[in-house]
Amino acid sequence: MILFNLRCADGHDFEAWFRDGAAWEQRSDGAVSCPVCGCTEVSKAPMAPRIGRHRGEAEPAAALTSQLTTQLAGLRKTIAENCDYVGDRFAEEARKIHYGETKPRDIYGEASPAEARELLEEGVTFQRLPVVPRTNS
Ligand SMILES: [Zn+2]
Repeated sequence: MILFNLRCADGHDFEAWFRDGAAWEQRSDGAVSCPVCGCTEVSKAPMAPRIGRHRGEAEPAAALTSQLTTQLAGLRKTIAENCDYVGDRFAEEARKIHYGETKPRDIYGEASPAEARELLEEGVTFQRLPVVPRTNS
């Protein structure tokens, strides 16, 4: 189905669904009428201009997602380069650092939601990292 923006001879704008482009081209006279004045002389209304967007470009939302993904990947890289990866021992290591049982350093790793909650309750500060969606590249 395609939603067309239509305009009647009197300039009323409205929308109508068609099965496809051909259904619009082959519609019988009077099949589509203006819901405001009932006029059957309708034509496709010019679409609102889309600034800065050309045919074939990604949807704005997709572009934003891809931008975020890139930024998150960069964040992950920075963390990977500057912090020790402790895997699923994150809660244990974070706690040791918090209580001064090991030398202070930046770490990253995985913690279960329950572990994360316990750390918060103990006053251990940490940041949650957003999951970076895998790209196909
Ligand atoms: Zn009309």
